[in-house]
Amino acid sequence: MTATLRIPACFWLILCGALALAQEPVEPGISAEERAMISWLDDREDEMLALLERIININSGSLNSAGVDAVAAIFDQELRQLGFSTSRLPGALIEMPSCPGSDYTVDLTDHLLARRPGSGSRLLLMGHLDTVFPPDSPFQTFRREGDTMFGPGVADMHGGLVVMLYALKALAEAGALDAAAITVLLNSDEEMGSLTSRQYLEEEALNHDWGLVYESSGADTMTRQRKGIGQARLVVHGRAAHAGGAHEQGLSAIKELAYKIVEIENMTDYESGVTVNVGVVNGGEARNTVSPCAEALIDLRYPQREQGVDAVARWAEIFDRVYSYPVDGGEITTESYVNLHRPPKIPTPESDYLLDKTIAIGRLLGQEIGITDSGGGTDGSLTQAMGLPTLDSLGISGTGAHSNREEGRVSSLIERAALSAVLIHRLARE
Ligand SMILES: [Zn+2]
Repeated sequence: MTATLRIPACFWLILCGALALAQEPVEPGISAEERAMISWLDDREDEMLALLERIININSGSLNSAGVDAVAAIFDQELRQLGFSTSRLPGALIEMPSCPGSDYTVDLTDHLLARRPGSGSRLLLMGHLDTVFPPDSPFQTFRREGDTMFGPGVADMHGGLVVMLYALKALAEAGALDAAAITVLLNSDEEMGSLTSRQYLEEEALNHDWGLVYESSGADTMTRQRKGIGQARLVVHGRAAHAGGAHEQGLSAIKELAYKIVEIENMTDYESGVTVNVGVVNGGEARNTVSPCAEALIDLRYPQREQGVDAVARWAEIFDRVYSYPVDGGEITTESYVNLHRPPKIPTPESDYLLDKTIAIGRLLGQEIGITDSGGGTDGSLTQAMGLPTLDSLGISGTGAHSNREEGRVSSLIERAALSAVLIHRLARE
């Protein structure tokens, strides 16, 4: 007789229930306190839009310190009104190698830190004050057409800053802000790779339980994992000579850089997910002069930490080798600045829990939120790499970042503020 293993139906029910639990946290329904926060937010669209228009119309390109400081001052005042104590963390001057005449020094202004003590979990809320649009960009002002709004930084990420602030205001209105210990860190240099704020973000990550970043991640989505990012600035020095009378005495920096660019671009490997992009090239002095100097700005994206380390090692080989002239015949030299400024954001069980919890809360609020992966990095990659479970796309629904097509959905301001208010309310108690 063949023994048949009979499994009681209740076992399957339990197993299926456990699997469902593993896939998505079961969130309790919206409480009366949460309902009060949501209905307070429902009447705030005009206020939120007015604040967003005000900060977008202040140019806050990363190198426009006065503009970035002006936006910081607005949030400083708003956060103090909510009982936060605020301070500034110093930025710095970063010098990078460059050809004569193209002085590449970036002067990055201070960051805003705000703290509010509370009894429950320690939450680190993050956002950036800067945008990629300099004061001479033609894209400078806020504009609205129906449920769409346009402007520099509307999605990346002034819209997210407004969402964060109004989530905190809603919690304060409901008397629920004391339940969490909240730190807000708004940096001035995210679009430059957080070159001076990284140390502060990493320090704060060690002292908090959950990280929330208010970047947008596209239309009604949250990002689960991200590639790491590296950057390099490469300067090649050659020797100038008259292009007609003494061509043979010259060592063309442009020619050498051209060889290097081919090698650098050849590092791209779609299969492994590594991409390398020479995004900016400058060089030379005149048509009839052998170029004495040429420079390039290079971007690297990599899914795994080791791939970043390998890419930097390969860069070093390419930068050091002279391709265009016999090594003993030249004075070709190179200088470089290399920085793996964003580690990859690799999901952990804790960050997946945070993501799933947020999506479940969204569902309770009637919001369908999709999950996506991204080749772009955020400060959440830094804090997650330090062990802080971080969700990095709590800002508005928007697209077209870093272009004059940047836009956002107006109604997502209230939706995302409500989502964040409920999320913070619940995380505070975990
Ligand atoms: Zn951003």
